[in-house]
Amino acid sequence: MSINRDTVEEFWSYQDITTAYKNADEGSLMKFSREFSRFLGVSENSIHLTSSGKSALEGLLNSRKDKRSVVMVAALNCNRVKDAIHAANCEIKTYDFQYEAGVFDWDLVFEAVTHEVGVLIVTHLYGVPVDLRRVRDFCTVHGIMLVEDCAQTLGGYVAGRQVGTWGDAAIFSFSYDKPISLGWGGMAVVNAPHMFVSANNISDYSSSLDPSREFDFLRSFIESMVARRSRIRANGKGISSIFYRVYNKLHRSASFDQDIVIGAIQAELGVYCLKHFPQIRLRRNANADLFSSLCPFPTWPITNEDIEPAWLKQKVFVSSPKNLESISRKLIKKGIRAGNFNWPNLMDEKSLHTCPISSQVASSWMDVPIHQKMERHEIEYMASIIREHI
Ligand SMILES: *Cc1c(COP(=O)(O)O)cnc(C)c1O
Repeated sequence: MSINRDTVEEFWSYQDITTAYKNADEGSLMKFSREFSRFLGVSENSIHLTSSGKSALEGLLNSRKDKRSVVMVAALNCNRVKDAIHAANCEIKTYDFQYEAGVFDWDLVFEAVTHEVGVLIVTHLYGVPVDLRRVRDFCTVHGIMLVEDCAQTLGGYVAGRQVGTWGDAAIFSFSYDKPISLGWGGMAVVNAPHMFVSANNISDYSSSLDPSREFDFLRSFIESMVARRSRIRANGKGISSIFYRVYNKLHRSASFDQDIVIGAIQAELGVYCLKHFPQIRLRRNANADLFSSLCPFPTWPITNEDIEPAWLKQKVFVSSPKNLESISRKLIKKGIRAGNFNWPNLMDEKSLHTCPISSQVASSWMDVPIHQKMERHEIEYMASIIREHI
């Protein structure tokens, strides 16, 4: 095999951005918001485009009516969630899985809720929805804002209802390793407007992006992804994102003082992605199922029969760090980027001892690509390498 397979990959190419560039106009952002609201089945004015998932969360926290400052959030999380919470002058209180990875004992989480807790965030990791039915009821009864973090999960369902529609609000991300990559960008969805002072401040739009500049950004994005992937074999796990270097350089030379906003070309690309997403989701789900059927070690659990995933990546538990390292090294040598990436540490170091199961996921579970480009023989190959380490 001489291919390069990133852990997660977007499903558009240079050709698609040139088409999107042609179609882009003043109506594109509205069009994308409308298509996204249709996809979720929510009203169009619930949708707020932002520069990132982080800024969506920050905007939501800042626009709340309620001022209680503690935000409860799963310990295994993205650092950018911590940054958003701190940027909104709130405090983090983490909660852990119970008994096993991916499973929560909500009674224990609810017991830990104090009077200062104003927000509870449920994070749908890896494309697998968390069963949040009891959380929904608890938050309604206690007047706590429920926010769904859907950065990694688009198009998953709990009991026939889509993730992103259970919470009082939700965030999505369009960064490079998310269900729909648009290079960068994010979105807040507000389902309970009465809980917010004004939803108008959620978007962090300062100015709009000139389409020719936006096109340049997108082109550098694609180029940096090609470069990144061509170096998978050479670099192993510590791949630095060239994109962020390019991005930061361009960013600083522009006169924005905030993160870069979603532009009209990205919006057109987003419309394209939404249209093709159901097909992509089927392929990713089939690959994830195939992998877990072949894998001798535990893969990420789906805790209930009425939970429908939209897999982003698979996870596998490898109890011996030496074996994890060896499996990862072998796969990377073949150009398949699998390993202990998201995330090797907990968001908040204080949780290291208080959240032992999340700590174990951070240290002993690896990410496995199952995206639309992965072919059957590649999935079988990954499983065969893992089987050598039983
Ligand atoms: C990526 C991610 C975010 C942040 O999204 P950005 O667009 O990178 O700011 C938030 N939460 C989770 C779970 C994520 O994976």
